[in-house]
Amino acid sequence: MPDPQIEKLLIVQDRDIALQKIEEELARIPRERAKIEALIETEKENIDAASQSLKEKEVQRSELDHAVKGKESDIARFKNQQLEVKKNDEYRALTQQIEQAEAEIAQLEETEIKLMLDIDSTREAFEAEKTTIEARIQDQHEEIKQLGEREQNLKDSIDAAKQALAASREGIEANYIEHYDRVKKLAKRPPYVAAIQQHKCGGCHLRVSNEVSRGAMDAGEPHFCDQCARMVYA
Ligand SMILES: [Zn+2]
Repeated sequence: MPDPQIEKLLIVQDRDIALQKIEEELARIPRERAKIEALIETEKENIDAASQSLKEKEVQRSELDHAVKGKESDIARFKNQQLEVKKNDEYRALTQQIEQAEAEIAQLEETEIKLMLDIDSTREAFEAEKTTIEARIQDQHEEIKQLGEREQNLKDSIDAAKQALAASREGIEANYIEHYDRVKKLAKRPPYVAAIQQHKCGGCHLRVSNEVSRGAMDAGEPHFCDQCARMVYA
C-alpha cells in the first residue's frame, strides 16, 4: 500500500518542478532579448557602414568635380594672360600650361566616370541589401515583442504556481517534508522523490541494496536511495 505521505510529496514535487520551469524560463528571457538586440545593433551598423562608404564616394566625386572646375578656370586665366603677353616664349609657355591642364582634366574626368559607375552599382546593391536588412530587423523587433508577452504571461503565472506549491505542502508530516527539502537541496535535479523499479532508483538509475528495496515498500517513515540519497518509494 502506497505511503500517503509520499503521495502528497509527489504532488509537492510536481508543483516544485512546474515552478522551477517558470523561473528558469523567466531567467532565460533577458538573455534571449539581449541576443536579439545585439543582432539588431549589428544589422544597423552594417547599414550605416554601407551608407558611409557610399557617402565617401559621393564626396570623392564632388572633389573631382571641384578639381575639374579649378583646372578649367586655370585655363581661362592662362588664355586671358595670352592676350596680354608680348613675347613669343611667354605665349608658348602659357600654351603648354593650357595643354597640361587639359590633359589633367581629361584624366580627372575619366576617374570621375569610373567613380560614377561605381557609385551607381554600389547604391543599387545598398538599397537592395538595406530592404532585406530592414525586413530582418522588423522580424527581430517582433520576436522581442513576443518575448515580452511570454515574460508577462510567466510573471502572471508565477504567483499562482507558488500558491499551489504552498498549498500542497500543508499537512505533510514534518519528518517527510524536512527530508524532502533536504534532498531537494542536495540533488542537482529532480526527481527528489523517486520510485524504485526492479531494484533501481528512478532518480540515479543505479541498483539499490535489498534493504532499501524492501524498506521502500513500508509506509510510515521515509526511505532513501543508498546511491544518491533521494527519497524513494515502491
Ligand atoms: Zn538513487
